[in-house]
Amino acid sequence: MQQVLLAIASIVIAEVVRDIFHVAGHFWEPLKKHHMVHHRVYRRDLSVISMDTFKKAQWSHDIPEAFFMLAVCVPLAVVTPGLGMWVGCLYILAFLIPAFARAQGKMLYTDLTHEAGALTTPPGHWTVNRTYHWRHHFDDVDAYFCGYLTIVDKIMGKALSLKGKTIAITGASGTLGRALTRELTRAGAKVIALTSNPNSEFTDAVKVVPWQIGEEAALRDWFESIDILLLNHGVNDNGDRHFAAVQRAYEVNAFSCLRLAELFLETVNRSEHKALKELWVNTSEAEANPAFSPLYELSKRTLGDLITMRRLDAPCVIRKLILGPFKSSLNPVGIMSAQSVARGIVFLAKRDFRNIIVTINPLTFITIPLKEISQSLYFRLFTKATKRSSITTNSTNAGSTEPVTDSVTEREQTHSQV
Ligand SMILES: [Zn+2]
Ligand SMILES: [Zn+2]
Repeated sequence: MQQVLLAIASIVIAEVVRDIFHVAGHFWEPLKKHHMVHHRVYRRDLSVISMDTFKKAQWSHDIPEAFFMLAVCVPLAVVTPGLGMWVGCLYILAFLIPAFARAQGKMLYTDLTHEAGALTTPPGHWTVNRTYHWRHHFDDVDAYFCGYLTIVDKIMGKALSLKGKTIAITGASGTLGRALTRELTRAGAKVIALTSNPNSEFTDAVKVVPWQIGEEAALRDWFESIDILLLNHGVNDNGDRHFAAVQRAYEVNAFSCLRLAELFLETVNRSEHKALKELWVNTSEAEANPAFSPLYELSKRTLGDLITMRRLDAPCVIRKLILGPFKSSLNPVGIMSAQSVARGIVFLAKRDFRNIIVTINPLTFITIPLKEISQSLYFRLFTKATKRSSITTNSTNAGSTEPVTDSVTEREQTHSQV
């Protein structure tokens, strides 16, 4: 058993060493000129520009990388009792030998992460697939360094680059919306504020796009140009149980978010979108824990559950933001600051957390993963994928003609996260 664990550890170590070599190839000049040959090999569809450059890249990057891995792992195997650590060395040989073959123009099929053609799946989460690695070449060369396991990128905060991404946020003028706008801008993103509040003001750096509940379809074409849609709006009618409040809670917190989500996902229609587009949904801690606001909880749970179901067939990455209580003008006793929550969201997003939990409630870290796994399995067993129809008609704004202002969003965030 101990040797089996050593064998697994040896493979993880080999991969970490590979990733360190790759990072050095970007930041250490003596290696950089050699590694950059690899970056000159491929077109955006990952087809090879020149076979000569491809062969040269094997000598200047792939083969030295495998030798470096051996240089670290062989001594470790020598000083470790048993044969377990030698498994890592055999694993490295399985890369070194094909690299030699590719340098002769043979065994080209072994270059798995650079297989030419359209991207067909979203980026891998724990392992590197073509879509994940494509981003290293064509999204941000200073991110996505990992070769097979994504551990090193997650530790370095390089598993998602926000640099240059166009991110649209609903509920943008609320306390959290403004904090997120600042943090995402700091991370290099171009933020667009989607707001239904005509009186909200933003700095000149933030583009503002007005929208209204029930008129989501008007945003469909505009979503084509958005990389990340962050759904952050909502209402909390604060204990009201009149039927109009029920309608309003579901219409705003659940159905408008779901319509926007679906319209955005329809725009994931090109190969590169699989790599670049993402949907982020603030489903709140109320998705799993009491928020002392039943309608808010019910509508947010509906949203959370249906997003879990949508993830089963998602054409791109869908992240959930599951947030605890934070301080704002309407919730002076909130324990976290909106700025620290926003900072936490960006920190975890860069580490490719798909369920981004920022809270002081330790139970949430248990209840949310359990709920997500069990609900996902239940939906997978008892639903099936069907062809989706486009959302083309506007929906009615049930229950209210009042615009959903971002101050309402703020109220939602504060009152619900007790
Ligand atoms: Zn590189
Ligand atoms: Zn590459």
